[in-house]
Amino acid sequence: MTREGQSAACQAPVVQLQLMLTEVCCLRCPDCCFQIPKIKYPRHMPVELIEHVSQFCQGIERLGIAGGEPLLHPQFGHIASHLKEWFHPKLLWLCTNAIPSQWDSHLDDFDYVVATHYTKHSYVNSGTDYEADNTEAIKRLREAYRGQFYVNEGLHHSRRVRMGSSPCGKATNGDVILFPDGLLYPCCVGPGIDGATGIPMTKNWREEIRSVPMPCSDCFFAVP
Ligand code: SF4
Ligand code: SF4
Repeated sequence: MTREGQSAACQAPVVQLQLMLTEVCCLRCPDCCFQIPKIKYPRHMPVELIEHVSQFCQGIERLGIAGGEPLLHPQFGHIASHLKEWFHPKLLWLCTNAIPSQWDSHLDDFDYVVATHYTKHSYVNSGTDYEADNTEAIKRLREAYRGQFYVNEGLHHSRRVRMGSSPCGKATNGDVILFPDGLLYPCCVGPGIDGATGIPMTKNWREEIRSVPMPCSDCFFAVP
């Protein structure tokens, strides 16, 4: 049974956990899927929480580090250098906008880094005059990081307008996300969609998260 505005729980097995390392970001993208610019008191994920949940995630298939902007977590260097020891993930990756440069020399533990490229064209659908351009920052990080480096090029933000109510392709990705308050969400958009439900992470999280309804009916990624 689901409340109005929620879809049935997703049954795809979890293959990826993302840690929303921080709700702080240096950009203010109007259509941010996490609604970061609207968060009045953004939080960082406590190191103790990361260590605590790692005991339930030993050997996880893929561990992604995201934000906000994860490079703005004040303890990013310490966290990055311990993630493999804490989680023993098969694959560890970082998603960043590349703008903060203070941790460039701390990225070697990541198997790969994904940078999202923003230009003024990224915001043409936003209905605002907001602009940002991180071209130079991506160039800098590409030169500084010695591992596999991917760039999400030509990103156009999806407008936060509902186009349908059926789950999009993300529903079968097996991708869940943990927020700084310790709540785990069944889809990578987390609480960025109003009405999304999160649960505390326990040792049975892989099963428990599959009984949490998805907020597809309220989500601007939903399809007709
Ligand atoms: S860079 Fe990403 S997290 Fe930051 S405001 Fe833009 S979409 Fe949101
Ligand atoms: S992104 Fe939105 S529509 Fe797609 S699966 Fe997640 S909640 Fe559903």
